Amino acid sequence: MARAFKGDANAEASSFRNAGIVEINHGLTMAAMIYSTLFCHFYESVLSAATEVDFSDEDEEITQMIVDELERSAFEPILIADQSVGKWATEGNVYAAHPLLIELPVRRTENDYHTLVTAAETFVVAHEFCHHMLGHTDEYFRHAGGAKKVVYQWLSQIDADGIMEKLNSSQKQEVEADVAAFLLTCGLLSEGGSRPRVYRAVGGSMIALVALAHVNQSWVSEGVSSTHPGVLERYEILAKIIKEITMRLPIGEEGKGHPIGFLIQFRGFISVVLQTISSRMGGDVDPPSLLNIFSWMIDLEAEFKEEHKDYHRGEVEDS
Ligand SMILES: [Zn+2]
Repeated sequence: MARAFKGDANAEASSFRNAGIVEINHGLTMAAMIYSTLFCHFYESVLSAATEVDFSDEDEEITQMIVDELERSAFEPILIADQSVGKWATEGNVYAAHPLLIELPVRRTENDYHTLVTAAETFVVAHEFCHHMLGHTDEYFRHAGGAKKVVYQWLSQIDADGIMEKLNSSQKQEVEADVAAFLLTCGLLSEGGSRPRVYRAVGGSMIALVALAHVNQSWVSEGVSSTHPGVLERYEILAKIIKEITMRLPIGEEGKGHPIGFLIQFRGFISVVLQTISSRMGGDVDPPSLLNIFSWMIDLEAEFKEEHKDYHRGEVEDS
């Protein structure tokens, strides 16, 4: 395991005389820090919109002012990151030149933030480690067959055939490594996927995906010639795996607290980042709106609660 200070903001697995090497680039850690900060701002604003804004208030002007302020604090850091991506690419170095890329919202603790950054690094290292485990770097690795079998059992459980069929062999390996890395980091292979570890794995994998996509401009795959699938395809597979793993977990008190709720926060965040990029590229895409994203997330949550209820209905009747 080694840290590289030059090269792309990424990580790599290679083998050298039967030893598996994993390199993680410093730029990737910087990107994980920056996108964790952006997510913390987004999360705070959504939380405030949900708990502190009284949308039934007669004084619409005040409500609008509060929403505008929340929108600014959620979206300004994303806009700054988007304006910096080109510079990071030309200088070959990811860094935070603006305080909004590194300063946390007041209510966020350093601890939450570091947990998220570490979780993103952990996911990336696990992904590279799994390239070794799955025999991608050394086809004679003796455990590769078993590891592959576990991954393909999960892929068939989520009906991923349609997505997998369109991928070339290198892209398939990336999906295999993503799935194995998620199973590994959420603790499913050792302790059955405990709730805190699932949360960490959701946060880590999502920050890693969005940071890699934005920094390396790899939202969509360039087709069969690309070594990696597009990040949106990787997201889709992971989201299905996460749902498959967590559906059995009950929803916490007062309808809150399920890893899918956390995943929906990231889905909202990823959409805002994408919409910010598209609106800056011209064309007719409007910049994101906090209220639109917020109500979309509420719909997704309601949809999930229904699905969750259906899934558990049998159990309640049985008992
Ligand atoms: Zn990979």
